[in-house]
Amino acid sequence: MYDLAIINGKTYINGMFENTNAYVLNGKIAAIDNKIYPAVKTYDATNKLVIPGLIDPHVHFALGGKVKSVDDFETGSKSAAYGGITTFIDFLDPISKSEDLNDAFNSRKELASNSCIDYSFHLTVMNPKEVNKIVDKMKLYNLKSIKLFTTYSDSGRRTYDPEIKELLEYSSLGDYIVMAHIEKDDLINLNADFRVADLPISRPSVAETKEALHIAKLVKETKGKCYMVHLSSGETLKQLTEQYSELINTSFLVESCPHYFALTNDKYSQEDGKLFTMAPPLRSESESELLKNNFKYIYSIGTDHCSFTKENKNNKYLKDMPMGIGSVEHSFDIMYKLYGESCIDAMTINPAITFGLYPAKGHINIGADADLMIYDTNIQTIIEPGHSASDYTVYDGMVVNGKVESTISRGKFVVEKGEFLGGSGKFVLESK
Ligand SMILES: [Zn+2]
Repeated sequence: MYDLAIINGKTYINGMFENTNAYVLNGKIAAIDNKIYPAVKTYDATNKLVIPGLIDPHVHFALGGKVKSVDDFETGSKSAAYGGITTFIDFLDPISKSEDLNDAFNSRKELASNSCIDYSFHLTVMNPKEVNKIVDKMKLYNLKSIKLFTTYSDSGRRTYDPEIKELLEYSSLGDYIVMAHIEKDDLINLNADFRVADLPISRPSVAETKEALHIAKLVKETKGKCYMVHLSSGETLKQLTEQYSELINTSFLVESCPHYFALTNDKYSQEDGKLFTMAPPLRSESESELLKNNFKYIYSIGTDHCSFTKENKNNKYLKDMPMGIGSVEHSFDIMYKLYGESCIDAMTINPAITFGLYPAKGHINIGADADLMIYDTNIQTIIEPGHSASDYTVYDGMVVNGKVESTISRGKFVVEKGEFLGGSGKFVLESK
């Protein structure tokens, strides 16, 4: 007797949909079969897609700063579950020395303990010095990634070339991947008089393109491994794929976010432009088109979810603006509308493999965690703000081609046919 049977669905297995049933026992996928077996609970997924629970490798819940982001782990994970996400990866507070890792890890883990879905963390560094000590120590915590910034020298978060090289050199040993926020620091203009309409010139796309090519060169020289977060510019992607094609999707992995596909920077000259402020910013129509046409080079989709309220965003000058938007609840709707099933791997198995979550997560096969998402493509939906603690979504009013019907974490419904049942997420990289 199985605990749960998901029957009659179109089930996504190893890159394609099959008309088959998935059976769950003790939180794991226990059988995949056309036959009907008895189960404590049977869920009829006729005409629905049964997809591996989505993995969002890039979220910021409860992010501190001058203005604290409004989704904590409780509301953020709930909103994510409504978006079909069953695992997210957040970031430890930035550290400069290995002695601070323990506190950074424990404080974040404590904050995350009320999450309703599973989670993991990226280690974050800010201008680190003894890189080797940090790398050694992170192994104790079983972390698989180190995030750095090539910019934000104004707040002391920039990591400089010698340390970037060192981090990349160590990464060639295969214990972790370097994650990089890539913008060329001296091409960022933080003029105190800049307003929202100036965001495109404050953080121009050329700053991303130039620095990305530079980092790709370092990856090649060091034989390291790098994951570029939130690529925003189609031009960056074009140049990378032209000049470093052998690295793309092998040792230089590119993440982009749904908003760079769905929105463009004409928003910044509109009255509500402040609601769309993030770094890097939205790009021009032609850049966005270039990105959309080269989706095949995008390895992973992360949301960079960092939500604020309209009130938080109500500032005249960019210098006072908390940067970031919420997106976890609608990322699949947006990407599925654009790419159909071709978006699934970038939101499931790819991040699972890169960040040490595979084989437990990211796919539907016997033995994997029963993390599943049921998507109803028989209805068109108009996007609304949803379940985030923020009072708006940048996708408000957009029409999409489906709706997350249910989200299952390790065999238990967190969302069932639109109703929130809650859940208890766990840290998935717990050292053995
Ligand atoms: Zn981010």
